Amino acid sequence: MSSSTGEVQRERSDAHPFLTAALRCYQCKKCSSGCPLSFAMDVLPHQIMRLVQLDSPQEILVANTHWICSSCQTCTTRCPNDIDIAGVMDVFRQQSVDNGTVSEKEPALFNRLFLSTVKRHGRVHELAVIGKFKLLSGQWLNDIPMGLGMLLRGKLRIFPNRIRGRHEIRNLFKKRTRV
Ligand code: SF4
Ligand code: SF4
Repeated sequence: MSSSTGEVQRERSDAHPFLTAALRCYQCKKCSSGCPLSFAMDVLPHQIMRLVQLDSPQEILVANTHWICSSCQTCTTRCPNDIDIAGVMDVFRQQSVDNGTVSEKEPALFNRLFLSTVKRHGRVHELAVIGKFKLLSGQWLNDIPMGLGMLLRGKLRIFPNRIRGRHEIRNLFKKRTRV
């Protein structure tokens, strides 16, 4: 981390509420010790909170953490300071997409395809996400036995299951320009 403690970010009126909440972090590390994917992260969740405090977004954006994060919410549940760490990861995923600094191409592609089916149908259509992901990532042969098994057990729907209020979901997406 390049900044000193004296440069700790003060609350800014233009900061995202999740980032403002991160200023409360006192580095107890409960988030990182409970994270099931910390083994694969360049920078651990508690270190991300510290970088937010030090106003070092570039160091966060080049790390893989926010793309490895599965939004399981374990960290958020464990945090004694009520910081939505999973929400902070979401903020940086969005910032990565917005400014083109995507550190992990495949999770970013999966994330985009996942959101595009939610935008269209109101909920995810797994088969469409998997099919497009395989096509665009070139990983045709991976996971075929597992995929076939899921199809045979009815775990993957051939057709999307659309919700009634999907226009409301689309309105939410309209507030964001890029999905
Ligand atoms: S659990 Fe909360 S307070 Fe503790 S290090 Fe993580 S974000 Fe900070
Ligand atoms: S939400 Fe992300 S950072 Fe938090 S515990 Fe789950 S995988 Fe780890």
